[in-house]
Amino acid sequence: MQVLVVGGAGYIGSHAVKMLREQGHTPIVVDNLTRGHRKAVPSDIPFYQISACEIERLCEILKKHSIECVMHFAALAYVGESVEKPLMYYENNVSATIRLLQAMETVGVQKFVFSSTCATYGEPSTIPITEACPQKPINPYGRSKLMVEQILADYAASHPTFAYAALRYFNVAGASRDGTLGEDHRPETHLIPSILLTLLGRRDKFVVFGTDYPTPDGTCIRDYIHVEDLCAAHILVMEKLCPGQPRIYNLGIGRGYSVKEVIDAVERVTGKRVPVEHGPRRAGDPAILYADATRIRKELNWKPQITTIEEMVETAWRWHSAHPEGYVS
Ligand code: UDP
Repeated sequence: MQVLVVGGAGYIGSHAVKMLREQGHTPIVVDNLTRGHRKAVPSDIPFYQISACEIERLCEILKKHSIECVMHFAALAYVGESVEKPLMYYENNVSATIRLLQAMETVGVQKFVFSSTCATYGEPSTIPITEACPQKPINPYGRSKLMVEQILADYAASHPTFAYAALRYFNVAGASRDGTLGEDHRPETHLIPSILLTLLGRRDKFVVFGTDYPTPDGTCIRDYIHVEDLCAAHILVMEKLCPGQPRIYNLGIGRGYSVKEVIDAVERVTGKRVPVEHGPRRAGDPAILYADATRIRKELNWKPQITTIEEMVETAWRWHSAHPEGYVS
């Protein structure tokens, strides 16, 4: 399939581009490079440095490459930043998606795969979280993603030929197993890269955000899913898209690891001791989040290949130790 990957130079988008190509699809990339990296996209893949809101350019690209499906990864995704700059989040995550959908409508592209998030659930009332859990986001980032889910539902209801998926990611982690792609966020705030960058001497210390949570070891529990398993789910979903059947799936492995368990795994994998400091809780962090991901397993027979935190850390460690400055190195 001819697939436009919007945000294809970002962490997840670049892994999706690689996998699409490996599986016989033809990816075309759009990225404004505010957070993505040109080096994350091979030079022989058509690449357009534009934003998702540039309707006329998008229409040209959709037509030129006979695009059949759009995968939309481009978004701002820092919770704290979304609280400080909500308009920037609504503009980038909501308005730009509307523009992208308008371009698709103009050209007649009918398939759309949207990156949503478990942040749309907010503080869940039950664990594990199923897709039926009420969506009550607690920050502008989560609300921006929920708004797009609602826009998609309304749009699909009025356009019987439109087919879409909204994939609610849990904690995406790791790097491509062949070591060519990895995580390079500026700033980097995520758990696993933060620990690894500390081990590589790029940071003085690693701070655990809260040790007094109501969990067995007092630290927060999250569901980590390997980035390649996540991308494999996108392609599986894309191939099954059908009008009138929105595909709404949680993407996690269905088990949680505490921050302390992740640190222990990093120490086992790298053979190094992590200089850990205990700090206060980070605002907005629920104690426990993990997915019930049985819906996609049952309906599409998706199965994550990487199911232990050690394996995820191994791939991330390979990438970070070879690229201590990310795509610059
Ligand atoms: N965390 C931490 N120290 C860090 C970064 C993250 O203790 O420097 C914790 C964070 O509080 C959360 C978990 O690690 O409980 C995962 O955080 P991350 O930012 O990777 O993802 P999030 O769950 O916020 O999407």
